[in-house]
Amino acid sequence: MNRALLLFYFCILLYTTKAISQTYNPFYGDIVNTVSASNIVTDLTTFENFGIKTNGSTAINNAKNWIVSRYQSLGYTDIVEQPFTYSGNTTNNIIVTKTGSVYPNTFIIIDAHYDTLNGPGTNDNGSGTVLLLEMARLLHNINTEYSIKFIHFSGEEAGLIGSNYYVNNTAIPENLDISLVFNIDQVGGVNGALNDTLICEYDASNPTENNAESLTKTNSLANCISLYSNLSTELSYAYGSDYVPFENAGKVITGLYEKNETPYSHTANDVLANMDPNYVFEVTKGSLGAALEFAVGISTLSTQEVLPSQKKNIKIYPNPSKGLVTVSSNFKSMTYYTVFISDILGKKVYEKALNKQTQTLDLSRLKKGVYILTFKNKTEVVSKKLILN
Ligand SMILES: [Zn+2]
Repeated sequence: MNRALLLFYFCILLYTTKAISQTYNPFYGDIVNTVSASNIVTDLTTFENFGIKTNGSTAINNAKNWIVSRYQSLGYTDIVEQPFTYSGNTTNNIIVTKTGSVYPNTFIIIDAHYDTLNGPGTNDNGSGTVLLLEMARLLHNINTEYSIKFIHFSGEEAGLIGSNYYVNNTAIPENLDISLVFNIDQVGGVNGALNDTLICEYDASNPTENNAESLTKTNSLANCISLYSNLSTELSYAYGSDYVPFENAGKVITGLYEKNETPYSHTANDVLANMDPNYVFEVTKGSLGAALEFAVGISTLSTQEVLPSQKKNIKIYPNPSKGLVTVSSNFKSMTYYTVFISDILGKKVYEKALNKQTQTLDLSRLKKGVYILTFKNKTEVVSKKLILN
């Protein structure tokens, strides 16, 4: 290999590293920190009070009008109601578009169904519905490179009718350039349980051409959840929700689902009192961080300004290291903090809770290479590069 070619490959590697590994972005963190727990409870209560939102009901129509009016009051103007009919009744998908400044014709779809079965569905899927509303509130004035479509599907409980309709009547005929479908369904948690883990779902079914990219995006999603919320994550297969028609059409999908699964979905007891609104709050924070990462939120800060994370004093030594690495921090709150290590593909390879100012980590089981160490406690996050050789 000649020198020019070697340099070319090196640049590609650097570019790839930059493009797909995530570290904590203080600009995104500042936005995430404005997620409102009280908005979430208020919206969940409103959603619950509409009642049982089945196809053809007054309740689903009232919920649809409420969702539309919420987007209008947030300042969105591109709001489309997409009617479709099944079992003799007409119901609507709601599609809200925010245009990106660099790639206006490439879309991140963030979706949640709002129809319910047998009960008010405050968890399934009021949780996803209000999460989208709160994200949309905070993203409205943020410049993003990619366009975002917030889609509230109907007809999910009857067999993914609304999402199938959208894929077959909009996405495919209009040849929409969809870079990712991010589906949120049932993230309410269980009242009284320790709701500290979130399932991130990736595509493991046919067709298989889109599966690797789905896993990459799902790893990014899990990493963002770790960076921007206090939740842990687990990966699992995607199934049985509105991403399925998209994955069948060859699109790249990812999704979120609660780890503690409510026993009340599709019953009259799927109500706020049986779920954990603080879990919805944390899932919203992580999802918003991920949405900013996927749609590439653009900070108005100049690159010359010192970001808060650069002022923090975290020492890693020796660096490069052969495997035993000592970390020393000056985090204000020393009750605990967590170190996450990601490889250059953004995949988390190590996580440990630390409780001392100076601590030695044994990383000898990790392969040689470049890693990003992220230190995080409740209020502060710092990322540093580490080389193992
Ligand atoms: Zn659902």
